[in-house]
Amino acid sequence: MELKRLTERIWYYPFEEARDRPNLFYIRGSRWSLAVDAGHSGAHTRAFYRALEEAGLALPALTVLTHWHWDHTFGMHAVHGLTLCNRRTNEALCDFAKQVESRGRAWFLSMHESIAREYVEGEPIVVKTSDLTFEGAMDLDAGDCPVHLFQAPSPHTEDATLIYLPGERTLLYGDATSGPFPNYSQRDPVLARAFADTLVGVDADIFAGSHWVPLTKAEAIAEALE
Ligand SMILES: [Zn+2]
Repeated sequence: MELKRLTERIWYYPFEEARDRPNLFYIRGSRWSLAVDAGHSGAHTRAFYRALEEAGLALPALTVLTHWHWDHTFGMHAVHGLTLCNRRTNEALCDFAKQVESRGRAWFLSMHESIAREYVEGEPIVVKTSDLTFEGAMDLDAGDCPVHLFQAPSPHTEDATLIYLPGERTLLYGDATSGPFPNYSQRDPVLARAFADTLVGVDADIFAGSHWVPLTKAEAIAEALE
């Protein structure tokens, strides 16, 4: 799979449906670079990094998580540099790590066929918590590239972090428009409306979620309310 360029400073390694691999984003500042989401497994993270190397891009100094779900985070043990997420995401990762440890590999693989496919070659399941946490909102500057992280209510999980890049006029929102796993279409209407209202308030042109192609603002709002 090849890296796709989204804006002057943003690339992404595209999503794959069979293994439920999300888009992995890469943001190049003039001083350092960051990734958004770590990957479904170490193998996914390594495939992303090979694509970065082929494109001549330095490996990320930091990886920010959109939410705790395995397909976004179980590559954390293989990332280059540090990891960052909100406090709720870290708590959820900590709880889920205990469940995987007590119930075992077969239980985790049986959660969904896409997980079984991701781990079919015997890739180890390693659940890590992040190096750094924030609460509410946080600003980063990768060098001529401001990055605003903020939490928002979402029908998907309780720990959504959105990544706003005002200079690129882009919002990265993870899975936050969809309903909870595994019944993605069953959204809580109050939370769906709250998330749509969050999107309305973001001054951007590109709205990129994790398991689909990037959308316009109107398309993303429609998706949140559909
Ligand atoms: Zn998710």
